Amino acid sequence: MAQAQQRRAGRQELIDCHDCGHGVSFSATACPHCGSTEPAGPAVQSRRELQRLRIEAANDRRLVVVTALCAGLGTFYGAVMGAGGAASWWAAVGYGFIGAVIGVPAAFVINIGRSLFD
Ligand SMILES: [Zn+2]
Repeated sequence: MAQAQQRRAGRQELIDCHDCGHGVSFSATACPHCGSTEPAGPAVQSRRELQRLRIEAANDRRLVVVTALCAGLGTFYGAVMGAGGAASWWAAVGYGFIGAVIGVPAAFVINIGRSLFD
């Protein structure tokens, strides 16, 4: 009985548990030795996937930079064009906001353009 069980287990593909190093069936959802729910270890990311994540991170940075730039330009434009005093501040805030609103889709367009031509 025990022998038959062992032979059956021997035919299963065994991997080393990521957490305790004991043999675990490849199809096991949890390690019977240590109870780890990821005996195969965290999902290995392919190079392609890593590159995609890097591009997305770069796109996020670009989004922030372009938005900040547009908001800054808008704020500057509002401050220069404003009548002075409190009205100038409101103009600066208003144009800064408009700049940010324009900056987000502008950054998206840049990102899409780059992903097409890279
Ligand atoms: Zn284990």
